Amino acid sequence: MLILISDAFGATLPEKLARFGEVTDDKNRVADAEVVLIRSKTKVTKEYIDGAPNLKLVIRGGVGLDNVDREYAKTKGIQVFNTADASTVAVAEVAFALMIGITNHVGRADASMREGKWLKKELGRTELMGKTIAVLGMGRIGSALGERAKAFGMKVIGYDPFVKSSPVAEMKTDLDTALGEADYVSMHMPLTDETKGLINKEQISKFKDGAWLINTGRGKCIVEEDIVAALESGKLSGYATDVWYSDPPDADCPLLKCEKTLLMPHLGASSKENMIRIGEICEKLIEEYSASR
Ligand code: NAD
Repeated sequence: MLILISDAFGATLPEKLARFGEVTDDKNRVADAEVVLIRSKTKVTKEYIDGAPNLKLVIRGGVGLDNVDREYAKTKGIQVFNTADASTVAVAEVAFALMIGITNHVGRADASMREGKWLKKELGRTELMGKTIAVLGMGRIGSALGERAKAFGMKVIGYDPFVKSSPVAEMKTDLDTALGEADYVSMHMPLTDETKGLINKEQISKFKDGAWLINTGRGKCIVEEDIVAALESGKLSGYATDVWYSDPPDADCPLLKCEKTLLMPHLGASSKENMIRIGEICEKLIEEYSASR
């Protein structure tokens, strides 16, 4: 069996998987691959699947399966798995880092010091303690972020159409109420037809004036131009994101030119510890597949 590791995984994974067959990272060999390991970069589209006639198993290291055409894979008898439980702490910590980073202007402070500037008066900080955070999407990562926010003395409210109650957050039944009460909004829902472009001009008008927005969910859940307009008008104080319309973003992405942003190159799941957890789950899934062949 040929196992194609198509995206970035832990360095020791190839040798761990070698007991199941030949392991390659040569994407040109996709036509011969029986198992393909992907993260967010490889798009397993209809065309990709049509070009991989031997494919039986796709493992997405991470959570979001929006880069896999699962319906088409099913028609071809291809099993698709993710490693959903592995990434929770890794992403929650990045969401928290972005929230505490942007509210303390860590990015701008660091860049200005390197430019020889002393912006002690200009970079007015605010504290998290006593503020309200609305968590959109109270699943694994949203709940873990909520726990961390609570530990910092924040009031945690949540919005999730599929979660009625939570030990971590006071759940709100509608999005507008959650947005209207929050000093910080953190996004943790998947990219679906309902969430695509959800945070747009109209929804931003429901935010508290001067609120902060953090996105470690999916880039396409916001409308970039509307976020930039809200940052420029002062409606939003800042936007911190790990996720983009595309990885990497286009050079003309308006967020890149905006000062009130804190930006990361989709590092949420990429902790050293998470790479080990993801590798262990991949190994187990391939072992099960191998035994059932
Ligand atoms: P999860 O499935 O445990 O939680 C997602 C939650 O979103 C669910 O509770 C679901 O009910 C809720 N939801 C669905 N539609 C919603 C809507 N319209 N409004 C509000 N909530 C809605 O998944 P998770 O493990 O917590 O991951 C959440 C998302 O984080 C993933 O789908 C992925 O897009 C993103 N993610 C990003 C990174 C990164 O590197 N930045 C890594 C892993 C996951």
